[in-house]
Amino acid sequence: MLLGFKTEIKINSHQQQILGKHAGVARHAWNWGLGLTKAILNHNKLNPQQKIKFPTSIDLHKWLVALVKSEYSWYYEVSKCAPQFALRNLRQGWEKCFSKKAGAPRFKKKGRDDSFTLDGTIKIIGETQIQVPVIGVLKTYESLPSGVKPKTVTLSRKAASWFISFKIETDIKPTPKRFDVVGVDLGILNLAVLSTGEIFCGAKKTRQLQKKLSLLQWRNRHKQLKSKNWADSNIKIARLHNQIANIRTDYLHKLTTYLAKNHSFVVIEDLNVSGMLSNHKLAKAISDGSFYEFKRQLEYKCQLYDSKLIIVDRWFPSSKTCHCCGEKKESLSLSERIFECSKCGWIGDRDLNAALNLEKIGRATPELTPVDKKEPFGFTSRLRRETLLQRWLTDSRAWKQEVKPSQA
Ligand SMILES: [Zn+2]
Repeated sequence: MLLGFKTEIKINSHQQQILGKHAGVARHAWNWGLGLTKAILNHNKLNPQQKIKFPTSIDLHKWLVALVKSEYSWYYEVSKCAPQFALRNLRQGWEKCFSKKAGAPRFKKKGRDDSFTLDGTIKIIGETQIQVPVIGVLKTYESLPSGVKPKTVTLSRKAASWFISFKIETDIKPTPKRFDVVGVDLGILNLAVLSTGEIFCGAKKTRQLQKKLSLLQWRNRHKQLKSKNWADSNIKIARLHNQIANIRTDYLHKLTTYLAKNHSFVVIEDLNVSGMLSNHKLAKAISDGSFYEFKRQLEYKCQLYDSKLIIVDRWFPSSKTCHCCGEKKESLSLSERIFECSKCGWIGDRDLNAALNLEKIGRATPELTPVDKKEPFGFTSRLRRETLLQRWLTDSRAWKQEVKPSQA
């Protein structure tokens, strides 16, 4: 299977200029192609009888060479791959949009998500150097994987740093699994609650940094636009954003690696992100937990460590249904942290209940072999689970007692 590799590169001012030029050309080609394809779609909508064929990425590149390239001399200063791959990505973006996997591609702005792709002779030299076409040798901080020959590389900018990424062919590494099925509930209070009773509460340091970030952003509002002071503080803000993102990604990687390495089946719920983003409080939690990144990591890690990922339909009421008897509650507000079943009397944390529901769905899938179904838990895991459940139960009862008098 192909795995992605991404690392920061050390660059001098000359390289910075070339990289910037490439990204600029890629962005120009993307925006030109997007404008054109949008115009074609518009035309086809208005004239259903005289439809124009939607161009392929090769068509787009041909038109670009014929119509655009000669007008702008700076197109000739960079590798021809930059606009070519930009148009290819644009076409893929439209395909995702047509198959309803993503929204329509958007115009790119300078300095935001700058990136471009190159192919040709790419060589890894020694531990920390990589040779790429046109730009030459780039140095990295981290050591590069040895014995691989990437076919394409993508260079991207985030804040003031540049990164190189490419795909590597990797063998599947099956690991011994401690649990057969796990349901994972992503929440607001905790990043993830597992049906085995484990809780991942999210990286604590990001909260401190977030405070610092809001302070900086607040101060920035009172600075004179385009002044040096303003520009400096903008760089500081971008760096902090980057730092927070790095800590989050790191934490998420730990969680997804743990899930994929130790569980044969991982069951998660597909989030109705667009619906949730309209709820402001939830929106923050979702972007904090970065669900898409979580799903992406789980997808490839489950492949890598030979486990299966089951994604449950987002309309399943996992938090409202009792995992013991299946009784469904009419409503459950976000502030209700404890789930109490009126039918069978189960009482416990609402996120744990949701995770257990997901686990139940995972167990019902035909993919699970009869052997797995027969002995759902190994002795140790069953014991561990029961103690954990017991702890949840007593904790939540204690918590309830604490709360109740004040409510009365
Ligand atoms: Zn019940």
